[in-house]
Amino acid sequence: MMLVPTAAAPRPLPDLPREELERVLVADGVPATHARTLWRALHHHLAAELAERDEFLPPLRRWVAEHVGADRRFSLEFPAEADAIASSDGLTRKFLLRLADGQTIETVVMGFKGRHTACLSTQAGCAMGCVFCATGQMGFVRHLRPAEIVAQVHHAQRALRAAGQDGLRNLVLMGMGEPLHNYDHVMTALDIITDRSGLNLGPSKITISTVGVVPGILRLAAEQRPYHLAVSLHGATEEERSALVPASRRWPLAELMDACRAYFAQTGRRIFFEWTLIAGQNDSPAQAERLGKLLHGLAAHVNLIPLNPTGGFAGTATQTDAAKAFQQVLQQAGFPSTIRQRRGMDVAGGCGQLRAEKARESAARK
Ligand code: SF4
Repeated sequence: MMLVPTAAAPRPLPDLPREELERVLVADGVPATHARTLWRALHHHLAAELAERDEFLPPLRRWVAEHVGADRRFSLEFPAEADAIASSDGLTRKFLLRLADGQTIETVVMGFKGRHTACLSTQAGCAMGCVFCATGQMGFVRHLRPAEIVAQVHHAQRALRAAGQDGLRNLVLMGMGEPLHNYDHVMTALDIITDRSGLNLGPSKITISTVGVVPGILRLAAEQRPYHLAVSLHGATEEERSALVPASRRWPLAELMDACRAYFAQTGRRIFFEWTLIAGQNDSPAQAERLGKLLHGLAAHVNLIPLNPTGGFAGTATQTDAAKAFQQVLQQAGFPSTIRQRRGMDVAGGCGQLRAEKARESAARK
């Protein structure tokens, strides 16, 4: 997908990967070394404005004055923090960020022992319509630009720095939206995020989560993208899966598993499979057995995630004993699994929940 800025809308500077930024400056007669200074200011020092940077020499200062601003070729505007809440255990913080067009997206920062993980959004809303998901319940609004994905990392790093905490180590693309439905923008954003002279997050610390967009999985494999892949299954038969994940009608389970096998054959990478545990719906030992058969021949790890309840779905979370029984069947089938802690339940932990809550509050005020 091409990014085509209109004459009226300057292109956000953080949309540009480093090589492109260098090409732009060199084409404007500014030596490449200044482009590298600008890149570090943006993505290493997390500069929110560029007017008074001591390290900028005159050619770069002139370029910035001429080309960066609200009515210029490039803009430097970061999403405003519309809300920020912390879980009662202090380990999870959720930010609601307001984009230039007023759309809001969520970014979550989770603290684990000695490390922080950010969960990023890739779209405003989502077209996939998973029935238990607050973002799916709101529908698709638009794709995020690379700059809007990168800005979430900036926001999380700034918040951690301000709190005197260690920076991010891991990223998961599991927030609002389906990353592989916004493939090109997501890959550009990850090129920027993993650049070693900028944000410098290791590709091996990044997980892309998909609900099963088959063309995207095949493209990740063909392009040998160095990120982890997580595939949300939630059902091990077509019927059970499509009841929870309408996207399964477009990319049926058999086609999805073929794509996973092709991905594994081409990359040799273990695949993570996500399974939201819903009491009485997909958490029986027989369903665990079917899941084990479905994964046969793959190097797989299953993440079992007790449901985060949402207003638009009547299901409830599987209790601990049933989750452990499910896990045991998987283990007997030879597949390791983790029962995920439900992080940030008191900060509207599931994706889209904070945005939905704020929208309800503002509708009630009107
Ligand atoms: S779970 Fe993910 S893919 Fe499904 S609707 Fe929610 S955001 Fe979209």
